[in-house]
Amino acid sequence: MSATPQYGFTTTILHSDRQKEIEHGSIHKPVHTSVMYGYSDARDLAAVFQNKQSGYRYGRQGNPTVSALEEKISKMEDGQASIAFATGMAAIGAVFQALLRQGDHLVSSSFLFGNTNSLWQTISAQGVDVSMVDATDVDHVAAVLTPATRMVFVETIANPRTQIADLKRIGDLCREKGILFVVDNTMTSPYLFRPKTVGAGLVINSLTKSIAGHGNVLGGVLTDTGLYDWATYPNIAANFRKQSVRMQGLAQLRAKALRDFGASLSPEAAHQIAVGAETMALRMERECANALALAKMLDADPRVAVVHYPGLPSHPQHALASDLFRAYGALFSFELKPEIDCFDYLNRLQLAINATHLGDTRTLVIPVAHTIFFEMGAERRAEMGIADSLIRVSVGIEDTQDLLEDFSRALDPV
Ligand SMILES: *Cc1c(COP(=O)(O)O)cnc(C)c1O
Repeated sequence: MSATPQYGFTTTILHSDRQKEIEHGSIHKPVHTSVMYGYSDARDLAAVFQNKQSGYRYGRQGNPTVSALEEKISKMEDGQASIAFATGMAAIGAVFQALLRQGDHLVSSSFLFGNTNSLWQTISAQGVDVSMVDATDVDHVAAVLTPATRMVFVETIANPRTQIADLKRIGDLCREKGILFVVDNTMTSPYLFRPKTVGAGLVINSLTKSIAGHGNVLGGVLTDTGLYDWATYPNIAANFRKQSVRMQGLAQLRAKALRDFGASLSPEAAHQIAVGAETMALRMERECANALALAKMLDADPRVAVVHYPGLPSHPQHALASDLFRAYGALFSFELKPEIDCFDYLNRLQLAINATHLGDTRTLVIPVAHTIFFEMGAERRAEMGIADSLIRVSVGIEDTQDLLEDFSRALDPV
C-alpha cells in the first residue's frame, strides 16, 4: 500500500476491494456461501488449525466476503484490523465476553444506547463492577477509576439527548493510566469522526445504521486501532500471548467472543453492507445538512420548547463538536411546548415515519420515553435527561424543503 496515493474517504471505500485482486473480474467482492473450506493437502489444513498458515476453516470464524468488509471498515477507521458480527450489540457484547472478568471494573458513560444500558445490568449481575458517570467531563471519569478499572466505554454523541463525551481528555486520561478506551462510534460514523484521533484502542460501529444505511440489513463491527498496548492488558490468556503483541486483543476477541458465542455476520449481509457503505459519505453529508436545517427551523419556532442538536450554538458541547467532527450528525431531539401533544404532532407528520432505528435514508421519528427508553424506567430516564414529551428525529436524505414543510406544517393544529 505504500506506493498508493492518499485517496479521500469515498474513493478508498469504492476501490479498496479491488486493490489486491479481482476474482474473475468481479467488481463487487463475491458472496462466498461455503461454510467449510477444503484443502488438497491435509497438512495445510492442520497448519491452518495450528495458526502456522493463514486460511479459512469454518464459516462461523471467518469468510472471505466478511473479511473484505472487515478490511473496508479498518480503512474507514484507520485501524489495524476489524472483526464483524451479526449485529452492533453482538460487537459490544464481545468486548465483555472476551475481555472482562469477574471483579474487573468498567467505567461507562451514563448517556447510553438503551440496550447497552441493559447489557451493563447483565454484566454487573455476572460480577463486573460498572460505574456510570456523566462522561461529558473527564473529571467524573477520573474520580471513579480504581486499580481494577480495565476499560472506559463511551459513545460519541449520545442518543437521544446528543450529549458529547469529553473524548479527547478521556483519551488522554486512559493513555496516561494504561486503560483501554472503547468508543462506540455509531452515532458519528467513521465519516464524521475517527475515535483513533482521540486515543481509542477499540472502536465499535453498528453497521446497521449509517454504514449500511438503508434499513435492510443488520451488522456490527469492532476495530482495533493499534494504539493500545495489549502486553499490559491483564486478561489475555496464555494461548493468545503467543501471537504478536499487536494482534493479541483481536485474536482473543475472535476466538472467545465471535467463535465461541457465534454471532457471526452472514456473507450475504456483508455484501449488502459493503454496497451500502459505498455511498455513506454522500448520505451523511445530506443527512447532516438536513438535520441542521430542521434543528434551526424548530429552534426558532415559539411552539417548540427546546431542541437538542450539537450543530446549534446553544448546545453545551457545540465547540467540542465543531472541533472534533466533520459535521454535527443526523440525529436530534426536541420537545414541543406543553400545548401540543407529542403523539398528535407525530401523527400529523406525513413524510417522517414513526419507527425506531437511525442513520437511515428515510427520516424516522419516535417518542423515546414511551418506546425505546420505556423499559429502563422514569428514574433512569430522568438521569439521562429524557422528558416524556421528547421526540427523537433520525434525519434522512429527503429533499430539504420537503422535510422543513412536513415538520412545520405539523406544528399547526388541524
Ligand atoms: C443501534 C446502536 C447499537 C446496536 O446496534 P445493532 O446493530 O442494532 O445491534 C449500538 N450502539 C449505538 C449507539 C446504536 O445506535
